[in-house]
Amino acid sequence: MPSFINLIGYPLKHSLSPYFQQVALDYYHLNVCYQKREVDAEELKTAIFSLRDGQHLGANVTVPYKEAVIPLLDSVDELATLLGAVNTIVRRGDILVGYNTDIYGFAESLKTQGSFVVRSKRAIVLGAGGSARAVSFALVRERISSLLIANRTMDRAVLLVGELRRYAMQIGLEAEIDVLPWRALDSERVLADRQIIVNCTPLGMKYSAEEGQSPLAGNVIPRDILVYDLVYNPYPSPLLRMSEEAGANILGGLSMLVYQGAASFKLWTGKEAPVDLMYDEAKGMLMEEKGQEIER
Ligand code: NAP
Repeated sequence: MPSFINLIGYPLKHSLSPYFQQVALDYYHLNVCYQKREVDAEELKTAIFSLRDGQHLGANVTVPYKEAVIPLLDSVDELATLLGAVNTIVRRGDILVGYNTDIYGFAESLKTQGSFVVRSKRAIVLGAGGSARAVSFALVRERISSLLIANRTMDRAVLLVGELRRYAMQIGLEAEIDVLPWRALDSERVLADRQIIVNCTPLGMKYSAEEGQSPLAGNVIPRDILVYDLVYNPYPSPLLRMSEEAGANILGGLSMLVYQGAASFKLWTGKEAPVDLMYDEAKGMLMEEKGQEIER
């Protein structure tokens, strides 16, 4: 009899996780099926309760339920508590434990795919939503020396900066952490002394209202900076295309997606995730989707 891992969220139509997680489970010949469970808010409690039935190893949780699941769990680990968001649930006997692998996913992808060492560097994060929180906590945890948060809604950036400063103090990090007005991104001077910029907004994301857009103009992007765009579809995104033309190094969001998934895989199975295989599968699915677009 197979076991199950659920992906819980809404909507889930464009999710790549079922493909690359199943490839990893099959690689180890595990009799486990990774399945989508698209639920509305009223069904969330039942969906989480069903993970206790003995047949489930756990779940991934995605938008919009990463915060809402917390009161439905028995305990939550340190990083998920820090972010106030859970993306992975593991059933240990009768207990459901919540984790957040987004911080790890971002940090690990930056190291392995971006060959970038965060310590003592200067960064700008665009956005102050869920992914910007994971990215900026990861940068502080890895001991960045200067971090500016630019967000369309200034108040949200101010709140995040306050939390990041408190966290920096807790871990004994003396770093400049501040807000950058969104309109300041028009100036090339703001970006000139930075080594990395991370886009955590949906600008450029396929199927979104912001498809085809970029948060930065090409002429403000410095040569040799690393531009990491969490948008993974299309690849390259409009921001990454411009950045490449400007002579910057680029990294797409697929890497974070796969590395957070790899960490979740290890939590459920106790086994090292076959990351390269997962990466190839995710890339393949994106390519296939492009092919279908052309055929249509
Ligand atoms: P979120 O919590 O809804 O936050 C969205 C952020 O983008 C907010 O800061 C919002 O600013 C800003 N924003 C939205 N529309 C904008 C616009 N038209 N102009 C300027 N800023 C705008 O979303 P999220 O979960 O952080 O996700 C953000 C993006 O990252 C999505 O495209 C998602 O697919 C991608 N993502 C990728 C990964 C990965 O593993 N690669 C992981 C997570 C998310 P306001 O505060 O002003 O609304």
